[in-house]
Amino acid sequence: MNALRGCFITGSDTDAGKTVTTGALLRALLEQGSDARAVKPVQTGCLPGKKGQLLAPDTLRWQEALRGLHLRDAERRTSALRRFLPACSPHLAARDAGASLTVTELTRSCRQEASQASFTLIEGAGGVYVPLNEQEDMLDLMTALELPVLLAVGNKLGCINHALLAIEALKARGLHGLGMVLCRISRGTSDEAELLADNVAVLARRGEALGFPLLAELPFLPNLNSPHTEMQDAAWAELSSRMSKVVRALNSSPTREAHHPAPEDILSFDREHVWHPYASAVPGPEVWEAVATEGSRIHLRDGSVLVDGMSSWWCAAQGYRRPAMIRALKEQAERMPHVMFGGLTHAPAVTLAQKLIRLAPEGLTQVFFADSGSVAVEVAIKLCLQYRQAEGKRKKTRLAALRGAYHGDTCGAMSLCDPVTGMHHLFTAVLPRQLFLDRPSCRFDRPFDPAGFTETERILRQEAPTLSAVVVEPIVQGAGGMWFYHPEYLRRLRRLCDELDILLVADEIATGFGRTGRLFASEWAGISPDIMCLGKALTGGTMTLSAVLVGRHIAERISHPAVDAVPGLFMHGPTFMANPLACAVAGAAVDDLLNSPWQENVRRIEARLARGLEACRNMPGVSDVRVLGAIGVVETQTPVNVENLQKFFVQHGVWIRPFHRTVYLMPPFITADADLDALTSAVRLAFEQRMHL
Ligand code: PLP
Repeated sequence: MNALRGCFITGSDTDAGKTVTTGALLRALLEQGSDARAVKPVQTGCLPGKKGQLLAPDTLRWQEALRGLHLRDAERRTSALRRFLPACSPHLAARDAGASLTVTELTRSCRQEASQASFTLIEGAGGVYVPLNEQEDMLDLMTALELPVLLAVGNKLGCINHALLAIEALKARGLHGLGMVLCRISRGTSDEAELLADNVAVLARRGEALGFPLLAELPFLPNLNSPHTEMQDAAWAELSSRMSKVVRALNSSPTREAHHPAPEDILSFDREHVWHPYASAVPGPEVWEAVATEGSRIHLRDGSVLVDGMSSWWCAAQGYRRPAMIRALKEQAERMPHVMFGGLTHAPAVTLAQKLIRLAPEGLTQVFFADSGSVAVEVAIKLCLQYRQAEGKRKKTRLAALRGAYHGDTCGAMSLCDPVTGMHHLFTAVLPRQLFLDRPSCRFDRPFDPAGFTETERILRQEAPTLSAVVVEPIVQGAGGMWFYHPEYLRRLRRLCDELDILLVADEIATGFGRTGRLFASEWAGISPDIMCLGKALTGGTMTLSAVLVGRHIAERISHPAVDAVPGLFMHGPTFMANPLACAVAGAAVDDLLNSPWQENVRRIEARLARGLEACRNMPGVSDVRVLGAIGVVETQTPVNVENLQKFFVQHGVWIRPFHRTVYLMPPFITADADLDALTSAVRLAFEQRMHL
């Protein structure tokens, strides 16, 4: 898709002179032979026309501006997309009309309109923070359209303040400022002359410094409203003649391409030089360029919008760009994006730690912040080993893990992954050799069979003298095969570990924060692990952060070793430990989740996925269908054709990334029923059409 060329015209306030500015600029562009048009995405205060249609006052005004040019296609050059009668804010007008406005839909229609001309002037409604719906405002639309912004400022008392606040908001969004147009919106009294002249001087100076230069001053011309068309036209010609600097700025304003490579270049450079997860490098795999995320949707460069079935690998539990998290991120970025954690502390880390301790299973009272899930697992491993050193139990150096597990890609974490699918054979030289227990055979949704624990118990009893800890993903084994096992297994494991002096480490990096229907999957068994790793949804999918929650007994022993030669310090300390940005966002993400009806949502998703995926059970090549919480899995007998399926899903408007023998869904908790149905029908259709083979 071509990038838009043109600008977004917004105001420092309502009645700041946007429509006159747009009309004058449109005329100026057409006078110099440019192929330009003006679009009003949302017009409120429409006039009732004949046959029930709504007439848009701004487009009528622009038509007046163009009249003197005698263009044959003048009418085609102005449009108002969504029209409402009441003269109020778009969100109210839409609500009254039983309609809805979304940035996605408006962006799409603006882009469509813009494809019909070389330059498009898109005029907002009111100022930057005018709401479009309960969550989005004009600023979101400007951000999505990625156009430079022209700010119309009504020259009146208070306009310096309004203009500077608007500029600050625009800059905070990283929007490129074309400049300002200062409009005299009334004749003004002679007493006001000094004030209005001062406004010009101050805004010219401040605008220059802020990258929003004052490009034009438009006088108040009563003839714009003259009943005589020639007089009216002369007034428009006068305004248009004042637009030369704006036209120049527009012509030389960087298009999106000046900041970013062209879409084709992004994909070809990516293919040649940028590595993707579990992929070859030269050439790289087929990928799609994502340009924005919103709620439960991913927007691609070509304009398509995909319903997300993956929550970006478990992270975006509540969907994308949650306002509270974005706000926390911005506020923290303004204050202190990062500071070292050695010797210093800060409120975002401490308040997050307080929240996690309060929520976690009992006994986990010490928090270690790390960078990613894998690093959290490394930290947990080191804690287990250092604990035994501190106890003086030097033989207890091994760890046990479950077959079918996945704990991350760093060496220690990898050593705990399934020894076959975890690719141990590639890295044997560096991987510590761990003890593997069979994957728990007892399904989550069947009665527990005690025989399923016998062999595990036998091995643990036998190996206990050399075992420091058992590391498990509680209830759901994720990337190792999306297997759901019975809580009784976990309960028995906890009891046995206590008896045999083995620590129990729960890797809740994927299962934490509600995905299985409980805040932490360990809750299904009512157990407390000795160490718990958190990550992924901890920051609501905004950025990377992990936390290792540790039982007090472990922290105390490590801090006060029973053996003299062992230091009383835990030997780990990442550079970006407890990064304030990440901690602030995580604090907001935790609150956001807890303040939402997440349990209800997860139950709703569970029922919907179960119903939607059931039909896959009898499809060729399918070996199982299972659903737990907001996770739905279709397991196949042989590995699926990931490439085929991925393409098929994108073509069908959904983002689902299968792996190995599973096609699985993990949508954000806020996903609407219709979107859940879109996901499950795409999966059904893919199996029906044998895309997996
Ligand atoms: N542990 C589990 C259970 C996971 O699912 C993952 C990632 O998928 C990790 C650890 C590793 O986390 P990260 O990819 O953030 O290193």
